[in-house]
Amino acid sequence: MTEQRRTALKELQNLDLKILEAQRRIRDFDPLLIEAEESALVLESDAEKTRTRLKEMKLEERRLVASVDEKRAREKRLDERLGSVRNLREEAAVSAELEMIKRALQADEQEVYTLIDQIRKTEERLEGVDETLVEERLVVEPKLAELIAERTEAKKGLESFESERESFVGAMDVSELRLYDGIRRGGRSIAVADLTQDGACGHCFGVVPLQVQNEILHGDALIRCEGCGVIHAAPDLEAIAAAAAEEAAREEAAKAAKEAAAADAVVEDASDAAEADEAADAEADDVGEVTEADAGEAAEVGDAGDVAEADDGAADQADDAGEADAPDDAPSADAEAPDAEAGGDSGVADEDDGAADSDRTETEDEDTDDK
Ligand SMILES: [Zn+2]
Repeated sequence: MTEQRRTALKELQNLDLKILEAQRRIRDFDPLLIEAEESALVLESDAEKTRTRLKEMKLEERRLVASVDEKRAREKRLDERLGSVRNLREEAAVSAELEMIKRALQADEQEVYTLIDQIRKTEERLEGVDETLVEERLVVEPKLAELIAERTEAKKGLESFESERESFVGAMDVSELRLYDGIRRGGRSIAVADLTQDGACGHCFGVVPLQVQNEILHGDALIRCEGCGVIHAAPDLEAIAAAAAEEAAREEAAKAAKEAAAADAVVEDASDAAEADEAADAEADDVGEVTEADAGEAAEVGDAGDVAEADDGAADQADDAGEADAPDDAPSADAEAPDAEAGGDSGVADEDDGAADSDRTETEDEDTDDK
């Protein structure tokens, strides 16, 4: 049951990681699309601006043409009036006005010609931009179509992961799901991690106490890492079994090769084992020697003090202890020796020795006190 639950959490996490990856892929299309479209977009915006400018120029042209028409009409009227003037003064006034109108008319006409020329040039330019844009679109469109198709595919993938998650979550324990989602809401993508083989958190690699490891492996409760807060999961047994099977296969192969190397190898192995045993024995002897040496030191300490007799007794006892007991007691004899030495040198041998001896026997203490 517990195992299944954690497996469910891990499966949910795998699904969520796939969803994150799909979302990232979809986002990555945006800059690619912009980049592919950029040259065409620049041309498009250029064409649009040119078209707007062209429209403004044509409005201006129309205004100027209307003005020219109006001035021509006035010129015509003034010409007629000039034919029916009654005196010189009137004639001079009409002539002056006519002259003014003609000059204004000339200026307007000049402006219209300039404008018409500008319009023609702008139209040519716009034509060029439009042609380039058509060419550019021929290159860009398929690229865009490809990118958009890929993005649509990625979106479909995301949708299928999301619906898979939805049905998966429906079968999960609600409180567990809440815990899992709560951990992930902090912006982290990892909420469950296997224990490593050597008993550390698989996410932050902090060591997990043995007791807690046992609870993770065999208990019911979901336990979170003290270091990083992820939910601890038992190691993936299938993966470990697969690894073990692989390892076994390798060993099998190695063994077969070894067997092929035949019997003398086996004999050698046996003698190796015997040698190893002897070595172990020798080591044990060494330990015994060390213990004896320590005891010897203790004896020296005793000689140095004024309370030779008592200390000799202590040293003897230490000696005995050293010889009688195996390596376990040796450290204690070691530890006492320096203390005893210090006591002897400082002249407060009585007390210090007494303290040093107190570990041993009560009769010993009595002896020291007598002195
Ligand atoms: Zn951790």
